[in-house]
Amino acid sequence: MNVHFQLIWRTAIIAALITISHALHAQQLKAPLEQAGYYRIQVGDYEVTALSDGTVPIHLHELLTNVSDKEIDSLSALSFQTATAEASVNAYLIRTGGKLVLIDAGTAELYGPTLGHLPESLQKIGVSPEQIDAILITHIHTDHTGGLMLGDKMMFPNATIYISRPETDFWLSETSRKHAPERLQKWFKEAADKVGPYMAAGKVKNFEYGQELLPGITPLATPGHTPGHTFYSLESKGERMLFVGDIIHAAAVQLPSPSVTITFDVDPGAAAAQRIKAFKDAAAKGYWVAADHVSFPGVGHLRAQGNGFIWIPVNYSTLGNGQ
Ligand SMILES: [Zn+2]
Repeated sequence: MNVHFQLIWRTAIIAALITISHALHAQQLKAPLEQAGYYRIQVGDYEVTALSDGTVPIHLHELLTNVSDKEIDSLSALSFQTATAEASVNAYLIRTGGKLVLIDAGTAELYGPTLGHLPESLQKIGVSPEQIDAILITHIHTDHTGGLMLGDKMMFPNATIYISRPETDFWLSETSRKHAPERLQKWFKEAADKVGPYMAAGKVKNFEYGQELLPGITPLATPGHTPGHTFYSLESKGERMLFVGDIIHAAAVQLPSPSVTITFDVDPGAAAAQRIKAFKDAAAKGYWVAADHVSFPGVGHLRAQGNGFIWIPVNYSTLGNGQ
């Protein structure tokens, strides 16, 4: 066998091994089951549609903090789950004042084939990304802002992107990136990739907390998970739905034990305090809560129980009121 032939032969074997390894990997990460991907509910005059970006396995032993593995296991078991949970990634579309307003934007290509399905969920309800007028971002983490861009293409070219000033100041600042710990570095890079182009195009706007931003919608400051984490409160005709972003990631654990935090929390202590305050308020007042990582559609009510809370999912309704 001459040297040239040996080289070709070796290259062919390596190429075959790479193909086999890709095929095995693809098998493990096969496409998700086809589910409806949307769920609609009326809040006063406004129509809210929960939209699924998909789901992703999360490993609670690795992600959750301020809790033992044993406690994670026992709390998960109470919900008939394990420490490998399947987390939803939800976004919400509000029709308000003739506008189409999206709350958070999904993940696009960043987290594999089980996520990135927000555009298909929109398509199922007959809405194209070009029709979206405004996007309200709860915070700049790429399971909420990844879907703003697909590669170098703006997914929502006609939308104004609303983000709180503390959030843009933190994630798009070179100074804060330099001072941030290693565990947060990936989020800075992804913030530049996914929000940066909209900033450069002058499409990102900040807002005043506590003042109506769009008809019926008011942003509320809830720093902790990130410095500019924001709730959006939708109110109409005495009804209210609070969009709470990442106030909760692992429902089976953080509802009964809301002091449990997650490695992504920029300020874990403040994140836990915000969660407890928000859950107490929602349980006391009885308004709707819409949470990006609670099992799709992520819409329900909270009730206090012992030192924690229980989640009552929206009643399936074809009449639109969920009662
Ligand atoms: Zn998130």
